[in-house]
Amino acid sequence: MNSPILPGHPHFSYRDNALFAEDVRVSELARSHGTPLFVYSKAAMLSALASYQRGFAGRDAQICYAMKANSSLAVLQVFARAGCGFDIVSSGELERVQAAGGDVKKVIFSGVGKTRAEMRQALLAGIGCFNVESEAELDVLSQEALALKLRAPVSIRVNPNVDPKTHPYISTGLKGNKFGVAHEDALRIYQHAASLAGLQVVGIDCHIGSQITEVTPYLDAMDRVLDLVAAIEAAGITLAHIDFGGGLGINYNNDTPPEAEVLWRQLLEKLDARGYGGKKLMIEPGRSLVGNAGICVSEVLYLKPGEQKNFCIIDAAMNDLPRPAMYQAFHAIVPVSLAPSQVETTPYDVVGPVCESGDWIGHDRNLNVAAGDYLAVMSAGAYCMSMSSNYNTRGRAAELLVEGDSAQLIRARESAADTFRDEVLLP
Ligand SMILES: *Cc1c(COP(=O)(O)O)cnc(C)c1O
Repeated sequence: MNSPILPGHPHFSYRDNALFAEDVRVSELARSHGTPLFVYSKAAMLSALASYQRGFAGRDAQICYAMKANSSLAVLQVFARAGCGFDIVSSGELERVQAAGGDVKKVIFSGVGKTRAEMRQALLAGIGCFNVESEAELDVLSQEALALKLRAPVSIRVNPNVDPKTHPYISTGLKGNKFGVAHEDALRIYQHAASLAGLQVVGIDCHIGSQITEVTPYLDAMDRVLDLVAAIEAAGITLAHIDFGGGLGINYNNDTPPEAEVLWRQLLEKLDARGYGGKKLMIEPGRSLVGNAGICVSEVLYLKPGEQKNFCIIDAAMNDLPRPAMYQAFHAIVPVSLAPSQVETTPYDVVGPVCESGDWIGHDRNLNVAAGDYLAVMSAGAYCMSMSSNYNTRGRAAELLVEGDSAQLIRARESAADTFRDEVLLP
């Protein structure tokens, strides 16, 4: 019998009380590959992408997956084969795109701190656009392009100063954070860019934050950006594309973000109403394409009852799942084998083995568990593996990609020796 689909995770379900990823039994994956283990659903990635594609049907639009959300090569292959470009934030990410067979012409390069070496590497590779975040960066990019006898295609990231109503660490479009150029300076900086011989102005971009669950901040940002497009084009600078960034949220815990298709229907209406519906559109979604396409499976090591709190100690930790420690983020935690419905549960703080009090995965979770059971940490497809570390000399977890009834290993578990292979002993 199929029991209730987990909210936000249509490609993960219980069948006869056993958790499945698409048509694969998760407990079998954990037994054969060990834990902690990331399990991704390819269908979940493609259906998240399809929602954007439906929204953009009939439009000149390019979806550039913001790969910092999950940059594993096989994940990049899934999106590259589906026609996506990539939003990168380092030359390392550019090399990942190339290794995964992605189209470098569909790469846009974001970030406030590109080095000259990274600029040269991206110029020589022939990427589609540099999303420049400061006036100083424009000058350096122009110099580097001229030295290579090239012209760098540029867009300037403008800061629309709207509140995305999300966690302050992942809010990026307000005055007072490090990203983009201020709205009031944008026209002057565009005129400066247009005067530089090494640059070719091709677009404008913004990105207001992450895990945004409301439409209004997007509509407000679009208005602010279109005001600038009007002013910049009135000054004689043509913008071939408008890039609205990423940031759409997912359902972690009763969150109700709009469907990408619904969001874009409203945004395109505004774009049409203001006369810019014919422009090439770009977007940079990350989390919304992969976040709910992945889970992290972990084994319960010990139960530790306490006077004030009970602890459930699992073998996944903050080095595998950094979001709770970093942003007080919530991940649902569910059993891989569901107990019959009426059993009693106990509230636990679910924690990892790392020697930090910040190493918690969930507070006050009602669970019926015993040592040796598997738990699935949900919504673990975005900003988990890509932010993972080797803290406490813990090797990174293995990753599997499920497609239908088969699962493929896409990253082998890292050994301790792997983690110190590049270190050099004193003579
Ligand atoms: C991180 C980032 C994104 C993706 O954000 P999500 O919230 O994962 O969609 C897009 N554009 C830029 C410039 C970013 O830094």
